[in-house]
Amino acid sequence: MNEVPTRTEFLFLPAWQIAAFYLLMAASVLILGIQIAQRIRVWMRGEKVSWTPDYLGGIAKFVLAQRKVKSSRPKSGAPMHLLIFYGFLTLFLATTLLAINTYSPWKFHKGAYYLTYEWIADVMGLGFVIGVVWALFRRLFWRPRALTQAPPDYWTLILLLALGVSGFVLEAFRMSANPHWFDTSAPIGYAISRWIGTISPQAYVAFWWFHVFLVAGFLMVIPRLRLRHILFAIFSTAGADPNAKMGALAPLSIEDVERTGRIGVSVKNDYSRWHLMSLDACMECGRCTEVCPANLAGKILNPKKLVQDIRGIRDSETTVASAVSEEALWACTTCNACVEACPVLIRHVDLIVDARRSLVADNRLAGSAATMLRQLQSTESSWGTPSAEREKWMEGCDVPLARDLAARGETFEVLVWVGCAGAIDANAMKTTRALVSLLKKAGVKFACLGIEERCTGDSARRIGDEFLFQQMAQQNIETFEKYGVKKLLTACPHCFNTLKNEYPQFRGEYEVMHHTQFIARLVESGRLRAPKLRNGEVTIHDPCYLARINGEVDAQRIALGSASSENRYETPMGKWLNEPLENPVRIAEPEHRGVKTLCCGAGGGRMWMEESADERPSTNRWNELKQTGAETVAVACPFCRIMLDAGKDAENLIRLKDIAEIVHEANCD
Ligand code: SF4
Ligand code: SF4
Repeated sequence: MNEVPTRTEFLFLPAWQIAAFYLLMAASVLILGIQIAQRIRVWMRGEKVSWTPDYLGGIAKFVLAQRKVKSSRPKSGAPMHLLIFYGFLTLFLATTLLAINTYSPWKFHKGAYYLTYEWIADVMGLGFVIGVVWALFRRLFWRPRALTQAPPDYWTLILLLALGVSGFVLEAFRMSANPHWFDTSAPIGYAISRWIGTISPQAYVAFWWFHVFLVAGFLMVIPRLRLRHILFAIFSTAGADPNAKMGALAPLSIEDVERTGRIGVSVKNDYSRWHLMSLDACMECGRCTEVCPANLAGKILNPKKLVQDIRGIRDSETTVASAVSEEALWACTTCNACVEACPVLIRHVDLIVDARRSLVADNRLAGSAATMLRQLQSTESSWGTPSAEREKWMEGCDVPLARDLAARGETFEVLVWVGCAGAIDANAMKTTRALVSLLKKAGVKFACLGIEERCTGDSARRIGDEFLFQQMAQQNIETFEKYGVKKLLTACPHCFNTLKNEYPQFRGEYEVMHHTQFIARLVESGRLRAPKLRNGEVTIHDPCYLARINGEVDAQRIALGSASSENRYETPMGKWLNEPLENPVRIAEPEHRGVKTLCCGAGGGRMWMEESADERPSTNRWNELKQTGAETVAVACPFCRIMLDAGKDAENLIRLKDIAEIVHEANCD
């Protein structure tokens, strides 16, 4: 009992075997290094990035804290991956500490520290093994839809399991061949050693070599299997743009086009170095595909496969569009569900829109979306209507126009941005009228642009016509400057996102509010009444461009009187509100809500593309909303309303209403 707890390094190994061990490890690390260098050479063929990464912040948030892993698949995939990750990390740190102790003059691997080290490594190692077994069973018996069952998937898990189990058996062999009073500090290894009984030093050495060969093999195959994400996810999360927003696509300048001789991305090497690196970080978990509305509706687009297809391009001539298929590229709604779900920060929407830009430049866009772009160019309206039509919705409404107010020397507080849909589409016009009426009721000083308003260019940008978008943006910004606009209010989440997140790229900085945010504020300040709804009477369809892309999930519920802006708390589903009101009305929430909402299929220019009736994302969404049993589906986006209207079944009696209309009924009717 007087013996100080510690571990003998290279127990029972003769000098020549220790030398052989060093040679083997050096060779495997060299092979690993060569493979990493080959991948770095591939990444370096891409374009330089323009941002300054937050290396430590990226690693802390997305690797060490596993932030994205935790928020997706919270019931199965996340706990399993956390067990594997933290178990593996602990075993890696334990091995590193052992090596430091061996090669440094300071021998700290003893006493109470050693006993604690042994216990922690044992328990976390058990967690690692449980996690790997869980992953194996999950893949075999209750596999999520987008997980594959290819042989390399199983080899990867079997290799990890062999590493974990052989580590415990080796520990047990050491205790059986060379027992000590403090062996109980590693309870798992100790229990196995009691079961094995005494063994010879030769048997221990033989098993030691087996484990060492496994470790060496593991190091050499990391870059060849999906295990590569262990390394490359560290690089990609560290090197990501810390200021990247889901709602802002990167601008393209004429100088870029002159320098590169191309618009957008044609071949793989046209992507940025970071985007190329991020492809290698893919862990093939399929989270992106599980949430993709296009894939769920049966379309060819599969974001996980898209990443693999681009990564798999081997030569410099194959175009991204041919590797992925043009049909898949056009199927994307830019809903960003994949980006939100991806644990390693892959930006699928960038990959897709960059490729679309090249297709548009090469005149590869045809059909109704191409017609829309031509009409937008000539009429400045995505509906293709003459600008005089933009004031039709105002008939009988007495709407203040910015030009009239300016002529009289009067000012306004807020500019109401109506948007093409809000001015032209019959149902969206109801929302616009309801909003204007609510603003008057609340005494807000506002104005509209009328015929001076043009499309924000959102659809053009997401379809891939960057310069048409920029033309629209610059003209609108000039109009805002003319009237000294500081605050914008819009009922369209697509306009909201573009004005808020993309116009600042062209020096158009404004306070931009979605109408639900403004109405929520008026309700909370008592200037408007919340509607008196019955529990379960209403369900909410959260628009992607409001909830997921801009993080607004409260305003819709506050405006309907089901929540207040106090008493927030966090759940894995995103930001939610605790029972904050005395008698809050219960919204009949659908399965996909808040930041995890399910896309209606309108974004990314899909609104303007032909859709076969049996592949409509809106049908899936409608069916989910219908299952809530609500009588009314509250929407907050004119595009969602159009798509859900098209996706609903003919005989249904459920009403589709914008939140502005519902609040209007409570205040003005
Ligand atoms: S943005 Fe939406 S539609 Fe496009 S690939 Fe991602 S999940 Fe699918
Ligand atoms: S792209 Fe991201 S979410 Fe999709 S499979 Fe790869 S790691 Fe998973």
